[in-house]
Amino acid sequence: MAIESFNPYTGRVLRRFKPHTPAQVERMVAQADKAFREWRRTSFQERSRVLHRAAALLRERQHELARLMTLEMGKPIKDGRGEVEKCALTCDFYAEHAEHMLADQVIETKARRSFIAHEPLGVVLAVMPWNFPFWQAIRFAAPALMAGNVGLLKHASNVPQCALALETIFHDAGLPRAAFRTLLLESKDVEKLIEDDRVQAVTLTGSEGAGSHVGAAAGRNIKKTVLELGGSDAFIVLADADLELAAKTAAQARMINAGQSCIAAKRFIVEKPVAKEFISQMKTHLLAMRGGDPMDEGTQYGPLARPDLADELTKQVQDSIKLGAKVELYGGQSEPGSARFAPMMLSNLKPGMPAYDEELFGPVASILIARDEQHAIELANDSRFGLGGAVWTRDEKRGERVARQVESGAVFVNALVASSPEMPFGGIKKSGYGRELSHLGIREFVNQKSIWIG
Ligand code: NAP
Repeated sequence: MAIESFNPYTGRVLRRFKPHTPAQVERMVAQADKAFREWRRTSFQERSRVLHRAAALLRERQHELARLMTLEMGKPIKDGRGEVEKCALTCDFYAEHAEHMLADQVIETKARRSFIAHEPLGVVLAVMPWNFPFWQAIRFAAPALMAGNVGLLKHASNVPQCALALETIFHDAGLPRAAFRTLLLESKDVEKLIEDDRVQAVTLTGSEGAGSHVGAAAGRNIKKTVLELGGSDAFIVLADADLELAAKTAAQARMINAGQSCIAAKRFIVEKPVAKEFISQMKTHLLAMRGGDPMDEGTQYGPLARPDLADELTKQVQDSIKLGAKVELYGGQSEPGSARFAPMMLSNLKPGMPAYDEELFGPVASILIARDEQHAIELANDSRFGLGGAVWTRDEKRGERVARQVESGAVFVNALVASSPEMPFGGIKKSGYGRELSHLGIREFVNQKSIWIG
């Protein structure tokens, strides 16, 4: 894909970027490798100072950064500001907690003293998606830098300005220039980087296909990976749920980032006695949401990030309808080749239909009716993904019981699924492996070294 800023709302190309040449890439990798040897020797206090400064700069430039996201991928400007604040919060979080998270861990053995030390690995390559252009990259960078690693960011080809703005923030915050670089690269050139001996590990957030390619290349080169891939999260509504709150949250959960979130609720599994009422209430909430110009402060959802993504979603919807899906709420792409897409709801879904089997990365809700609690769990688990999920019930014990049986990396009871720096984030099944955020995230790219003193 060409490296290009394209405004999905206006349909205009804003800027084109030339990919870095092989010689430029070679220089950046060599410099990153060298920078690692110095950065790893810095104290936690020095690293914290840089990360706190990065947080302050994110806040200072909040509007400008939000505007870049709006321009490059259509995120409503006020959501963009929220994303930037979350990035700042996460930089502060790791600045404050990394030292404690990576402290030596004493283990009682026959030795006089034995413990686990956490040492950085080196240059980590991050391949990132466009849907939360700052958040996805910070989620990797803040813990990795605090652990003493250095980072090379290969961002999605449609958000180069966001990628470069993030690089500038770290440099302005006082991080050595070579310790965090944005590589303007096409995806076909990623494998060469993975093969490079100076790159020690790879983290990818993106689709199942990209994860499989990158994971395979890393496997051939014996390199540690974290893969954060797609999801088709279940949103289970049991008959005893607070239906009004569940329906309101369901609409919100499906429409996060115009439906383009890995942990957006995608399959709404509703117990039969309340299904009709739930569908009706969710539909009302979806219809009340204001779509439009993402630069407008009042806009709740903007266009999809690229027209081809809207074309692809339309095909998934049409194929499902051809196979018997029922349209509960009409919406969809405004016209072929446009990125604008109004919310839709589909029901009467069966295995074999894209709306049942695949991830719908946009504002289309799949409704499934469950006979009872057990059937709801079976439907939730009848997916090759396992990222997040939600359960709605007035009975907390029941909620916990169901949560424990859902096959995914996270389940929220009576709450909107969201990531936060304190809690681990990641999936199972085809949603990937490894964890980001929390103390688990920062330990992904460290050498957990056993030290035995006899
Ligand atoms: P994508 O097409 O897989 O792209 C993600 C990144 O991978 C981009 O930088 C892309 O570069 C690169 N890439 C694509 N194919 C590659 C290959 N064969 N080799 C190396 N790099 C490759 O995904 P997307 O459309 O940007 O994002 C949507 C997907 O990400 C959804 O499935 C969503 O659920 C998932 N996601 C998961 C999480 C999570 O935390 N689990 C979070 C957000 C999104 P180019 O742009 O140059 O192609």
